[in-house]
Amino acid sequence: MNVNDSEKMAGILISEGYKPADDENSADIVIVNTCSVREKAKEKLFSFLGKLNGIKEKRELKIIVTGCVSQLLKDKIRKRAPYVDIMLGTNSYFKIKDALKKTKFSDFQFYKNWIEIPFEPILRKNDFSAYVSIMEGCDSFCTYCVVPFSRGREKFRPSSSILKEIRFLEEQEFKEVQLLGQNVDSYRDPETGMDLASLLEKIAKSSSIQWIRFLTSHPAKFSIRIAEIMAKYPKILHSIHIPFQAGSNKILELMNRGYSIEKYLDLVNKIKEIVPDIALSTDVIVGFPGETDKDFQYTVDVLKEIEFENMFSFKYSPRPGTKAYLLEDNVPDEVKTERLIYIQNLQKEIQLKNNLKRVGKVMKVLTENINKKNPNETVGRIYTGRIVNVKGGKVGEFYDILIEEAGPHNLKGSIKED
Ligand code: SF4
Repeated sequence: MNVNDSEKMAGILISEGYKPADDENSADIVIVNTCSVREKAKEKLFSFLGKLNGIKEKRELKIIVTGCVSQLLKDKIRKRAPYVDIMLGTNSYFKIKDALKKTKFSDFQFYKNWIEIPFEPILRKNDFSAYVSIMEGCDSFCTYCVVPFSRGREKFRPSSSILKEIRFLEEQEFKEVQLLGQNVDSYRDPETGMDLASLLEKIAKSSSIQWIRFLTSHPAKFSIRIAEIMAKYPKILHSIHIPFQAGSNKILELMNRGYSIEKYLDLVNKIKEIVPDIALSTDVIVGFPGETDKDFQYTVDVLKEIEFENMFSFKYSPRPGTKAYLLEDNVPDEVKTERLIYIQNLQKEIQLKNNLKRVGKVMKVLTENINKKNPNETVGRIYTGRIVNVKGGKVGEFYDILIEEAGPHNLKGSIKED
């Protein structure tokens, strides 16, 4: 979501005549778009701001902080970095153009409804794959998470605007769209009440976009109809990011996740029945307050049972303002690290096993970049998001790739000649 907000701000500024600079040393204006999901990001911000201030002491430089840290820690930023000129909250990034006309400016207002900004000038990362926001914010209040405070409550984008943006992308010959939201399963069109399953069906039926992805799903809100629609329209890629976070019901309850692990496993089994080649990915937090060895073992059991395609794992870090912040952070850091390394090694083995099964198969790949280490190769992804190094090829194209080698994190292959 942050990357997409940055693309939108960059697009607005370019349409106003601003030009992108190579780096902060050659820029007249620096916008730092921040994330506060983890503690580390906040500290990184202050050290980067210090560096910018060093530049500002020698010449004119406008420093702007936008995004979640700006929204949540405005007073701290004002105190620790008084040289920051402009601060915009998560719902106000679209005010960047007007903000730049002022010397000092800040806006942290939350809006109840979706604010539509023109999507035409969005400066996208490339011309074949696009993010399309469909909702923002979250009402789930997991006890460890700052998103409901940093992004506000759920706001849904009218499907008419979503479809208009997708039509525009189609005309520009984009090949892939990724529908974005903190909690996409909550989606309800504010005008018609349409849910995510129907929205996906409508896009799949009416658009020539060849790959459709969506992110992120919530196990307590996922409707099985989404899986049915995925099975019906293969262009909705058979890949779901559906975090379970922890395998112990005690911890899930403390996290306020709204499901038991039995319900999660049941949902996954139902999805697998409907979409047999589904690739599931997850987020896992280790070392949540009160997590015993036994609780951790339940997490390990789930990872072994489901064999996720991908896992994003984190050590619990207390975030001020959340309910979990009030709990004693009583799992020692060495234990958190040990648990993290354990599940990462386990996941690595699972991924290697899954990837080796792909050797000898032909898989469709959308190439995204030239391989920085080898300019004779392109780097792309299969439907699950797994990276493939391709011998030859052009960026931004679909190829049928014969998979020849596999590692835990990526595959290698050649373009299949007809
Ligand atoms: S559902 Fe996701 S975004 Fe919402 S509070 Fe929970 S972890 Fe945060």
